[in-house]
Amino acid sequence: MTEIQKRIADIKASLPEGVTLCAVSKFHPVEALRDAYDGGQRVFGESRVHELLAKIPVMPDDVSWHFIGHLQTNKVRRIIGRTAMIESVDSERLLRLIDAESEKAGVETRVLMQVHVAAEETKFGFTPDELLDFFASRGYETLRATHICGIMGMATNTNDRVRIEKDFREIASLHRRILEMTGDRLPGFDTISMGMSDDYSLAIECGSTLIRIGTDIFGRREY
Ligand SMILES: *Cc1c(COP(=O)(O)O)cnc(C)c1O
Repeated sequence: MTEIQKRIADIKASLPEGVTLCAVSKFHPVEALRDAYDGGQRVFGESRVHELLAKIPVMPDDVSWHFIGHLQTNKVRRIIGRTAMIESVDSERLLRLIDAESEKAGVETRVLMQVHVAAEETKFGFTPDELLDFFASRGYETLRATHICGIMGMATNTNDRVRIEKDFREIASLHRRILEMTGDRLPGFDTISMGMSDDYSLAIECGSTLIRIGTDIFGRREY
């Protein structure tokens, strides 16, 4: 086993059933992704469109690509039909555009709605109230080629475990409230994507079903 394969195996061994590992491979060379792939990893996360599009053709076809970065509206068309999931839908405008382009391309796009609960000002995403409003007004019913599978969020970038836990609990409770509100009208709304290298154990305790891990698998990124 290579070092990368060993790290993936260790993380997977620690995951409860029903939690998926997304290996965040942004800024890492394709050799590192192949290494992970050869160790059985199939779900990879990328945050930049040009990097994702460069890696797709040189990796095997059965990779599930998750887009996890801020997606500029002028780049939407380029990744439609290429991803297993866009985790970072951070505005209704982006959602509507993804839907329109997916319909045009004749594909269904699976997405997560990105919610912002962290203390930092700069991160993208819906506020909890904006997201609740969207679902309360049934904004999802007019989507024609997009399946909203759940929500994605990040905790505050801090060493304060209390704050991190508060953020994760808020994301999970938001997911629960949306489920209660939408009931049978939104089938398959079952994904809570939260937890990164430094905080994924806590995220899982708080209800995460999808963790996004880069550094703990591939080492530090060189930007
Ligand atoms: C980079 C990134 C990650 C991975 O972070 P690590 O700390 O390296 O595990 C997870 N989620 C998002 C949205 C990211 O941009």
